[in-house]
Order: sequence, then structure tokens, then C-alpha cells
Amino acid sequence: MVAREEDDLHAEVRQLRTRLEELLERARANEATQQRLQAVELDMLERYPLADLLRALILEYPEQLDLQGAALHICPPQPEVSALGVNGELPAGVFLAEVVPPEAIQLGPPEGEAPVWFPHMTTPESVALLPLHAGGRYLGIYALAGEAARFHPRQGTAFLQRLAAMVATSLDNAINHARLEEMALSDPLTGLDNRRSMERRLAEAMARSRRQGRQLACLLLDIDHFKGINDRHGHPAGDRVLVEVAEALARTVRGGDALARYGGEEFAVLMEVEGAEAAEAAARRLRMATSTVTSPEGEPLTASVGLALLDPAEEGEGLVQRADAALYRAKEAGRDRVETAD
Ligand code: GH3
Ligand code: MG
Ligand code: MG
Repeated sequence: MVAREEDDLHAEVRQLRTRLEELLERARANEATQQRLQAVELDMLERYPLADLLRALILEYPEQLDLQGAALHICPPQPEVSALGVNGELPAGVFLAEVVPPEAIQLGPPEGEAPVWFPHMTTPESVALLPLHAGGRYLGIYALAGEAARFHPRQGTAFLQRLAAMVATSLDNAINHARLEEMALSDPLTGLDNRRSMERRLAEAMARSRRQGRQLACLLLDIDHFKGINDRHGHPAGDRVLVEVAEALARTVRGGDALARYGGEEFAVLMEVEGAEAAEAAARRLRMATSTVTSPEGEPLTASVGLALLDPAEEGEGLVQRADAALYRAKEAGRDRVETAD
């Protein structure tokens, strides 16, 4: 009898030990998951620019977290994200279409809805749908795909809630950053690039034209007697004229040219050209475009243009200064004309 009780006791102890080892094993696995999750969260808070964060959310983090994949549904559409789509910078797995978001985190087998959330991959075995909220606005859904046992409806959601908050915050930050950058580089009245943006593009355009052995031209166009429009008809009428001129110039330049509002009623164009004659022809086209806009009195506007071609030994600043000096000469010589720098 005693021996029997002892055996039972041994068996119980063995069972308890096995159970304890299982629990420890699970705790170690949980801790490892927690650590990987923390590494991912810290990384995403610093991911910039927006395109980089989106790539990491779709391609890098799922791998680091042992998932089968992920999708991001941005809704309502954010213009900063759409702009990346236009430039072909959106990774497969980011979607802009409107989808009806779940109110709370959803976990489990994908059911019939999975293709809606994962149109870019084979239907996953289990999914987690994380609604993303940041700063009081709804940003969309981060959808995670895992093996069959990964997500199930009875599992705790504390980890995932935290992950969702981190993703939403990171995304909101990156979108706001992109918005500020766009604002810093564009002119609010006309929507054209501003002077700062033009200065950035000048360095790029110079490097490209040197690489490709093509000539770079800088044209500065200044509307003649513009102040009179403001004086006679008020600032808002002057603003409307500036917008119309910007539109006319934008229709005239070619795709690869850089057009900016350089100052009040002064516009700049950077273009690659085949020789001085082509640049002068472009300057004439810009003047003609300006003359399609009329003053509030119905008079066609005129403009003066200063033109300079990049000297191989010259810095960007020098190019713009020579175009500006040529513009000054065009004004001095009576306006409504093009002057080319020596
Ligand atoms: P010029 O033929 O010598 O170029 O004469 P101008 O009158 O065009 O040039 P001036 O430099 O004397 O005046 C430019 C005016 O442009 C003065 C300024 O009030 C006006 N201006 C600058 N920015 C804006 C703007 O954003 N909106 C409006 N409505 N006017 C502006
Ligand atoms: Mg002027
Ligand atoms: Mg001016």
C-alpha cells in the first residue's frame, strides 16, 4: 500500500514537473515574442520617410514576427499615401480602397472575408485585423496573416492592442511629416514648387545634365507692371492673375522641366536643352503662354525673361545669378522680351 502511494506520488510529481516545464517553455516563447515585438515597435517609431515605413510594415515586420504576411488598408484615403502610389512607391500590400473597418480587433480563421484583406497573397490560415486610430482619427486596418494556430478568437489581445497603437502612431507621424515636407516645398497660392524646392532641384538637374552631357538652361520670367493690377483691382485680383499665369506656364513646360514660383510675380524654369536656340525658343513659348492671360482690364499680360545656360565650370548659384542679371537687362531694355546671359 505504502509503495503504491509512493508510486502515485512520484507519478504526480513527474506530471507536475512536465506541466511546469511546459509552462516555462511557453513563458520563454512569450518572452522571445515580446522581445521581437518590442524591437519591431521601437524600429517603427523611427521609420521615416513614409514609403520606408510602409515597406517595413508589409515586408520586414511580418517576417521578424514569424507571420505569413501583412496588408495595410488606408482609409479614408490620405493624399500623402496616394502621392506615393502615383510615383510607384507603394509596396504591394498597401491598399487605398474604401473598406468597412471592424470596430475592434478581430482574430481567427479568415472566413469568407480574407480575400478582401489579403488580395495580394494566398488566403492565410488565421488573421488578425487591427483597427488603427491615432490622434482621434481613423487611419485604416493593419491585417496580419499567420499559421492556423497563430490567431484565434479566445486569445488575449493586449499585445496586439499595443502593436496597433504603435503602428497607428508611427503611420500618423510619417503622414504628418510627409505633409509638412510637401507644404515646405510648394507654393500655397499656385500649387507650384517654391523657391526652396527649385534650389533642391537645381543641384539634381546640374548633376544629371553633366552626367548626360546635356545643356541645362535656367529661365527667370517676371510679369511686367504687375503691381498696377494690385493697385487698381486689389490683391485678390492680383492673386487670380498669378494663378492663371502659373497654369498657363505649367501647360507650356515639358514633363522633365522644373517650374517654380520663384518670388512674388516671378517664375523659374530649369530645363535640359540642345543648345541656346532651343532655350530661346522655350523662353518665347513661356512669354506667349503669359500673354494668353489677360489683366482685369482685358489686356494680355507681358513678361520679361532672363535666360542663362549652365557654364560647365559654374555652380548652381552662379547660373541663377546670371539669369537674374539677364532679366534685369530685359526690364531695362523696355520689358516684354527675352535677354540671354553672356
Ligand atoms: P516690373 O515690370 O518692373 O516687373 O514691375 P512690377 O510691378 O511687376 O514689379 P514690382 O516688383 O514693382 O512689383 C511686384 C508686385 O508683386 C509687388 C507685390 O505687392 C506683388 N506681389 C508679390 N507677391 C504677390 C502675391 O502673392 N499676390 C499678389 N496679389 N501680389 C503680389
Ligand atoms: Mg514684375
Ligand atoms: Mg518681380
